[in-house]
Amino acid sequence: DGVFNCFLADETETVAMGSKLSSCIHDGAVIFLHGDLGAGKTTLTRGVVQGFGHTGKVKSPTYTLVEPYELDSQNVYHFDLYRLADPEELEFMGIRDYFENNSVCLIEWPEKGAGMLAQADLEITMEYVDNARRITIMANSQSGKTIINKLKN
Ligand code: ADP
Ligand code: MG
Repeated sequence: DGVFNCFLADETETVAMGSKLSSCIHDGAVIFLHGDLGAGKTTLTRGVVQGFGHTGKVKSPTYTLVEPYELDSQNVYHFDLYRLADPEELEFMGIRDYFENNSVCLIEWPEKGAGMLAQADLEITMEYVDNARRITIMANSQSGKTIINKLKN
C-alpha cells in the first residue's frame, strides 16, 4: 500500500509512465526523483510535462537548476540539483515560491538540496534492469497516497 512499481522496457514506456502519472495529479505534488545518471529521471519528467500539455522540448536544467513550464492546466517546475554546490543557493533563487499554489515540482538529485526543499508527496526511484528500467513510486503524504491509488486503477 502506498507503493507502485513496474517494469519499463524502453524510453517510450518511461515517457508513457510519466504521462500517466500526470493524469493522476490534481492538486499539485512535490516529487523527488532518485536514481543513477541515465536511469531515466529526465525522460520520466518529459512524460509528466508533456502529459500536462507541453508540446516543445524538455531539456535537463543542469546549469540553470530549474526549468519552468507554466502551462494552461498546471505550473510544472523541473529541478536538477546535480551541480548544486551549496543548498543555500536555493534560498537565493527563491525556491520556496516554486512550491506554492499547487504546482508540480519534479526534483532530480533532491539530496543535494537537503533542508531547503518541501516535503515530498512522492519519492520515485528509477533503476537499471539490463537495458530497461524499473520504477518504484512511494507515497510520502496523504496526497501522495491518493495519486498512487489513482495510478493503480
Ligand atoms: P537521468 O535524468 O536519470 O540522468 P535521462 O532520462 O536523461 O536519465 O536518460 C535516460 C537514458 O536512458 C536515455 O538515453 C533514455 O533514452 C534511456 N531510457 C529511458 N527509459 C528507458 C527505459 N525504460 N529503458 C531503456 N532505456 C531507457
Ligand atoms: Mg536528468
